[in-house]
Amino acid sequence: MKSPHVRRRSTPFLAVALLAAALAFLPAIVTAAPPAGPRWGYTGADGPRHWGQSFPQCALGREQSPIDLAGPFEKTAAPLAIDYHPSPLRIVDNGHTIQVDVAPGSGFTIGGERYELVQFHFHQPSEETFAGQHRAMVVHLVHRSAAGKLAVIGVPIVEGAANPLVATLWAHLPRAEGQESATPTIAIDPAQLLPAERSYYRYTGSLTTPPCTEGVTFFILRHPVEMSRAQIAAFPHPGNARPVQARNGRPIAESE
Ligand SMILES: [Zn+2]
Repeated sequence: MKSPHVRRRSTPFLAVALLAAALAFLPAIVTAAPPAGPRWGYTGADGPRHWGQSFPQCALGREQSPIDLAGPFEKTAAPLAIDYHPSPLRIVDNGHTIQVDVAPGSGFTIGGERYELVQFHFHQPSEETFAGQHRAMVVHLVHRSAAGKLAVIGVPIVEGAANPLVATLWAHLPRAEGQESATPTIAIDPAQLLPAERSYYRYTGSLTTPPCTEGVTFFILRHPVEMSRAQIAAFPHPGNARPVQARNGRPIAESE
C-alpha cells in the first residue's frame, strides 16, 4: 500500500525523469562566439591572395600549406599508429568549414610521440594536390601533442559510395553559420574517415587558414575514402581550399 506521502512525491519526480529523457534526444543548439579578428574568406578582397595584409605569416612564411605532393620523395618506415574511438556528436559551422569537435581519447602515435585528435573539418576541393591533381574533397584531422605541437592527418576524398559518418554529420548540420549543434546521444566514429591502407606523405607546413601558423606536421594519406556525389554536393562551403604554396625545398617523406 502506497502512503500519500510517496504519491505526492512521485508525480514531480516522474515529470522530471520524463523531461530529462526527452531532452536527451534533442540536440542542444549553442550559438558560438562571433569570430574574432579581421575577416577572411576564399573569394574577392577577402581571398587567400589578401590574407597577408591582416595575417603577415600567410604572405611571409616559407613553410606554408597546402603544397603539391610530387616526387622526389624521401623514404620513412615509421608507421602511423592511429586509434580513434567513438565520440559524442558536436558539430560547428564556423563560416569557413564544417568542423566536428572530438572528445579526448582518440589520437595517434608516431616515433613514441602521442598526438590527441582535437577536431576534424573538410575542404572542397582537396587543398593538397597529388602530382598537380586535386581530389574532390579532403578531411583534415587536427591533433595536438602534450607539448602543444600540431599534426594534421589529411585524407583525400573521391566520389563513390556514401560515407556513413558523413551521412550522420550532414543530417545534423547547424542551421546557420556561427552555430554549433551538439547531440550527446549520437556517437560518431572518426575511424570511418580512414582508409584501410594508411601509407602517407609527410612534410612540415602551416595552418591552411589565417593566421597560417607554421610548425604543423602533415601526414597526407595516399589512399582516399569515398563520399557519394550527393554528399559532396551537400557540403555547405564549396571552394574553401587555399591554393598550393611554394615548396621552398622542403623534403616530403613517403612511407613504405
Ligand atoms: Zn584544413
